[in-house]
Amino acid sequence: MGLQKLKIIGNGDAFGSGNRFHTCFYLESDKTKLLVDCGATAIHNLIESGIDLNDIDLILLSHFHGDHYGGIPFFFLNSYFLTYRVKPLTIIGPEKCKTRIEALIEALYPGLTEKFRQMDLTYLEYNETINFNDLAIRAFPVVHSPPSNPHGIRVESGSNVFCYSGDTEWTDNLYDLSLNSDIFICECNYYDLDISGHLNYKILWDKVNKLKSRRIMLTHMGEEMINSSQIELERTVQDQEYNF
Ligand SMILES: [Zn+2]
Repeated sequence: MGLQKLKIIGNGDAFGSGNRFHTCFYLESDKTKLLVDCGATAIHNLIESGIDLNDIDLILLSHFHGDHYGGIPFFFLNSYFLTYRVKPLTIIGPEKCKTRIEALIEALYPGLTEKFRQMDLTYLEYNETINFNDLAIRAFPVVHSPPSNPHGIRVESGSNVFCYSGDTEWTDNLYDLSLNSDIFICECNYYDLDISGHLNYKILWDKVNKLKSRRIMLTHMGEEMINSSQIELERTVQDQEYNF
């Protein structure tokens, strides 16, 4: 019982560096199929991967930037017009999740919000631990562009723990977020460039011994990180499947 499978649908930065798709991780537990983030370019690769959007029960969003939630209108477009979704879908995100997603839909496809509301959609906001099917979900505030309301996400099921940093510069919250996890996917946009709101490898490497995770994997890498040969930490691989 617990988490079974992780598949990397997208692990690029906002610019899609290295021809990677925007952030989207597919997770399966015994009772739940979910996405962690759904970036603007993720849907194409999700479908190419043979994942049936109609099977997905839950989408967790780390923050409101296009490379992390911009795929939601296209998920809905697909679900409403192509696959006639009837299964309930829950979306959990930071505060004002529903308002911000509907505003995005109205910007891209004016008038469709009303139609999409005919689907069985539930929106929840992070607040303490949220229990969903066989999952316990918790979000931790992280340090990124404040208007995007940035969070890291922790998903527990049975004895398994999956964690994701979201987009963030270093914050000690990452210790608690990733504590005793099986897999911790951590953003690492740069190698040694110090850009506010993002992590670089040198800073992360300094902290890595104090992170209590069985497996740390890097994501959201820019060109500098993709091309660096001096990386000792594992990098996520697009389209790769991992077991818990
Ligand atoms: Zn991002």
